[in-house]
Amino acid sequence: MNHYKDYRRDELLEILWHLDEDHELTLTSLKQHDPDGIFTQDLATFSDNGILEVDGENITLTPTGKEIATGIIRRHRLAERLLTDVLGKTPEETENAACEFEHILAPELVESICTLLGHPKLCPHGAPIPKGHCCVESDKLVQSIVIRLSDMEVGKTSKVVLINTDDKIRMNKLLSLGIVPGVPITLMQKRPAIVVEVNQTQIALEKSVGDGINVWRMER
Ligand SMILES: [Zn+2]
Ligand SMILES: [Zn+2]
Repeated sequence: MNHYKDYRRDELLEILWHLDEDHELTLTSLKQHDPDGIFTQDLATFSDNGILEVDGENITLTPTGKEIATGIIRRHRLAERLLTDVLGKTPEETENAACEFEHILAPELVESICTLLGHPKLCPHGAPIPKGHCCVESDKLVQSIVIRLSDMEVGKTSKVVLINTDDKIRMNKLLSLGIVPGVPITLMQKRPAIVVEVNQTQIALEKSVGDGINVWRMER
């Protein structure tokens, strides 16, 4: 086993993943982010290892490379959530520790942490956390006891379970309106817009927003 080489590989994959998220996965932008040329130099080695392919300006991850990169990013972003949500760190304070975690967390531990945190969709910086097996399983489970707000009967009150959105702006807007997990929510009308009452305030929501709010299924 060559830990140092794995470390270099993981760091490179992480950079490439970020460039890809910003839609600028090219040789030129890698060089811009790599002034010492260390990672650019590694490209040839890892292309020989079947992790990535370089064709002129274009860099692409092979399926193997993508799988490894997904795991690294998932561990890094879950570690960030763990540090902020459970240990009360600020997102800025998480960086170094999260970078250590991403190399050492065992797969079983990753699933446990993800489950403990409620299968979060975004890291504290608002970047998406790639889903694991545990998240897919939990979607099925959650659907059985939880319904969408827009599937509730008009006039009924339930409690918010979770807000299911990848959209950080929308999430923050809902949170600022007081629509947070555990809060009682009454469905006042469904059409033309969804109107809910939360904390004695009536709020109109677009249907797509209402669909992203999950509430407990009430059998009454
Ligand atoms: Zn982050
Ligand atoms: Zn999960």
